[in-house]
Amino acid sequence: MVDAVVVGAGLAGVSALYHLRRQGIRVLVLEASDGIGGTWYHNRYPGARCDIESLDYSYSFSEELQQDWHWSERYASQQEILAYVQHVVDRFDLRKDIELNARVVSAVFDETDGRWAVRTENGQQFSAKYCLLATGVLSAAQVPQIRGTESFQGRSYHTADWPTEGVDLSGDRVGVIGTGSSGTQLIPLVAEQAAHLYVFQRTPNFVMPAQNRPMDPDLERHWKEHYPELRKKARATRNGHNQISNPLRGKDVSPEERRAEFERRWELGGLYMMRAFADILTDPEVNAEAGDFAREKIRQIVDDPATAEALMPPRELALGTKRLCSGTNYYETYNRDNVTLVNLREAPIEAVTPTGIRTADGSEYELDVIVYATGFDAMTGSFLRIDVRGRGGLSLREKWQHGPRTYLGVMTHGFPNLFILAGPQTPSVFSNMVNQAEIHVEWVNECIAHLEKNEIDTIEANEDAENAWVDHVNELASRTLYAQSRNSWFWGANTPGKPRVFMPYVGGIDRYLQKLGEVVAHGYEGFTLRSRQLARA
Ligand code: NAP
Repeated sequence: MVDAVVVGAGLAGVSALYHLRRQGIRVLVLEASDGIGGTWYHNRYPGARCDIESLDYSYSFSEELQQDWHWSERYASQQEILAYVQHVVDRFDLRKDIELNARVVSAVFDETDGRWAVRTENGQQFSAKYCLLATGVLSAAQVPQIRGTESFQGRSYHTADWPTEGVDLSGDRVGVIGTGSSGTQLIPLVAEQAAHLYVFQRTPNFVMPAQNRPMDPDLERHWKEHYPELRKKARATRNGHNQISNPLRGKDVSPEERRAEFERRWELGGLYMMRAFADILTDPEVNAEAGDFAREKIRQIVDDPATAEALMPPRELALGTKRLCSGTNYYETYNRDNVTLVNLREAPIEAVTPTGIRTADGSEYELDVIVYATGFDAMTGSFLRIDVRGRGGLSLREKWQHGPRTYLGVMTHGFPNLFILAGPQTPSVFSNMVNQAEIHVEWVNECIAHLEKNEIDTIEANEDAENAWVDHVNELASRTLYAQSRNSWFWGANTPGKPRVFMPYVGGIDRYLQKLGEVVAHGYEGFTLRSRQLARA
């Protein structure tokens, strides 16, 4: 018998286990795969790397951990983040409460005893007062439905399900489908190994140079001396990290100064371009200038003008409205003799054949390996792959059929004591995910402590509060350029049949945290707390 079941042993699930256990809650973490680490366990493709600085993208709950751990690079590789999570699990003796190979298939709320019955694929059943879904917003891998996929006689891999033993591509003819964050990180490294690489590109993305480098010892020393202030500072920003943001609006400065700022951001690397000006995501002209600046860079880097042209994101794609990519030698890779860009906007993929890929213009690409860098059923996929049922058998899949509906992103009406960690309608994907996960875990931890102390059986989001939150999320998004560029996973556009609803919260970590705090200060405003003796709204 446990008090809380946590589904998923990624960064959020591990943090939840640590915090809940410390307040005496008996916790069991159920993890579908055979290892911990979540997204960092599965996304082992060559080049996989975080685009938030490693010193920021780390747990804040232990000063000793912060002081002891050494990050070797500015941006941590997948291997290093995975080693870090494993270190945390061992250091705090968390492994004993994590069950691996335990894929949760259903979670059903029983109104008679107020508990969740959680079942795994292999038939195990657990009963818990609290159920926490820590399954991640970018974890349900997506393979596109292309005719003939099954017939391919070579090897196929998905970036989000990369073999643990690694893949040797030397001497192979490799086709990569997809040029999002995963594809653009992977492509330069595959090009170094493969005999020939064909990149099948549908929508060109903006790819900023990561400007990764070995950790600067002075910077590390500074962080270790000032961790508490820097963590606090991160939470007071929109994006939950310490990347420098420019508070000025683009038109507050001259065209020359704007250009100099874009240049500075290119040199700072990665996602820094998103913070070039305060209105980069709201003023179409400022955004278009940033886009033109990036297109000019592509033209300068790529030798062949036709290839450069094909790599340029279309003008209707505002910079950042498809997530900005952060890569190393991405555009330079197209100057190699063994790399061919296949522009699917001219001729889409018609079929995967036993020997490769055929495009609509009749071209046949002979391949030994196909890599699908085709992303995720993002934001809701991992939650909806589980059959979650709340009061009266209400199905989460049915409830969210027209898009996610939550109050504060943390609970959904009709599902008492079900907590969603770092999911839709939170700043999650626009922020530092570790920070977002910790913010949620701290809030849920405090909430559960409150329920236990006051002998309250259930907490549930009220429908009117939920409606207001959904409206607020949509309203904020409608004031940004995201509302105009809907061809992204933020809108569910990459998943066939998915409703076109904007799913993340653009209001920022700072504002979100303030709201979470206010709700608690007002006695869990917008929630109904019930105990067997009394019900109060
Ligand atoms: P993604 O951004 O959704 O990119 C998927 C790519 O596959 C797109 O280029 C898409 O083209 C293409 N695609 C999908 N179906 C296709 C089809 N049938 N034919 C041809 N092309 C097809 O997925 P992702 O690259 O895995 O990244 C997802 C998110 O994970 C990122 O946005 C980021 O938030 C996160 N991530 C972060 C990092 C990092 O920290 N550096 C690294 C990897 C991932 P269209 O654009 O035309 O749909």
